[in-house]
Amino acid sequence: MRIIENAAIATVDARGTEYRSGHVVADGEVLVAVGEGPAPAQYTGTRVDGSGCLVTPGLINTHHHLYQWATRGYAPDSTLFDWLVELYPVWGRLDAEITHAAASAGLARLALTGCTTVADHHYVFPREGGDQLAALVSAVGRVGVRGHLVRGSMDRGESHGGLPPDHLVEDLDAALAGTEAAIDVHHDPSPDARVRIAVGPCSPFTVTERLMTEAAVLARRKGVRLHTHLAETLDEERQCLAEFGCTPAEYAEKLGWLGDDVWLAHTVHLADDAVRRMGATGTGSAHCPTSNGRLGTGIAPARGLLDAGAPVGLGVDGAASNESGGLGEELHQALLQARQRGGPEALTTRHALWMGTMGGARCLGREGELGSLEPGKLADLAVWDLGGLRHAGIDDPVAALVLGATPEVKLLLVGGETVVADGRLRTTDEAAVTAELGAASGRMR
Ligand SMILES: [Zn+2]
Repeated sequence: MRIIENAAIATVDARGTEYRSGHVVADGEVLVAVGEGPAPAQYTGTRVDGSGCLVTPGLINTHHHLYQWATRGYAPDSTLFDWLVELYPVWGRLDAEITHAAASAGLARLALTGCTTVADHHYVFPREGGDQLAALVSAVGRVGVRGHLVRGSMDRGESHGGLPPDHLVEDLDAALAGTEAAIDVHHDPSPDARVRIAVGPCSPFTVTERLMTEAAVLARRKGVRLHTHLAETLDEERQCLAEFGCTPAEYAEKLGWLGDDVWLAHTVHLADDAVRRMGATGTGSAHCPTSNGRLGTGIAPARGLLDAGAPVGLGVDGAASNESGGLGEELHQALLQARQRGGPEALTTRHALWMGTMGGARCLGREGELGSLEPGKLADLAVWDLGGLRHAGIDDPVAALVLGATPEVKLLLVGGETVVADGRLRTTDEAAVTAELGAASGRMR
């Protein structure tokens, strides 16, 4: 057993229970005790002194494009559409080795910022690019986090009014067959799954109406979740209104893309009625505040979505639009942006932590086993060191985490196994990952 004691604990359970000085006990991959004071004497095993630390559930990243770790720093001052047009030809050079290096780096960065579960949306499959999904699955295993790999797709190239060049898109049948194969080979439906697959046509402006519709049918036939980008920019809304005579949210609903098995990246530009529909249908939102800020796309209505009852999780988005790629800081950004949009009471520090943990678990359909520290749940947790210069003396440990700099991770457990200890990766060699990333970025240039 692993026994963490003397730590502040934010359980993020339904009552928001917190302990000023408490214990968490993991037996194998499962939590068996969480409470105030020292651990009961019946629990024996390895003890971790959590003095000066805060324990939270492991953070859950709900939107990413890990391959973009090999293309950071391009088009630093562009709009989304101009940024995409500059990056598409670069992404055409992607192969499985580059994807593995980029994903290893991105996952390492996430683990070092408190993240234990990562949703990745991968939609670039160059014809000579090798087995992209296998490269991602391998990186997930190497770093030791849980992966929700969204098998993305694009079938609408320039010649069909889409944004990407034709050579970067698949045809509809290949996209659907590749997606079904990814589910058959890699998807694990068990509660302690390390790898799950979801279905993810990229966005309305890169995918045909038919692929959006048939992808949803495929996902529901296979019993997996659905993910896509939606309502990220005003450019997208204008194009959608001109082409389909409806907003992106109305388009999504028409094609079967609202529901409690769907989570949507960004959802920045939603009318009040669309916010209500997201809540009524239980559709999740992957809120990516840093990426939205870098591309100047607007501020998502996180507070409104929470009030409507929609699950809202946090995401770093691809590192080509968020060069930092750390999830801890998204708690901070989400809080700042929500208050800039809705005033000082728009989002509390606890709401921000909820989005980064339980909100993400709900988006991914993992609320039964992840997202909070409660007996019976999987032992995925972060022990944040609040003892250094950056946080010493901050009265409220959750405020220290959300309002302060991202603390060093003293311990990160995934299924009870150590991924990070004392701010260092323990599953793989960070220097090797860094060197591979440098080589991969050079090959993409
Ligand atoms: Zn994205």
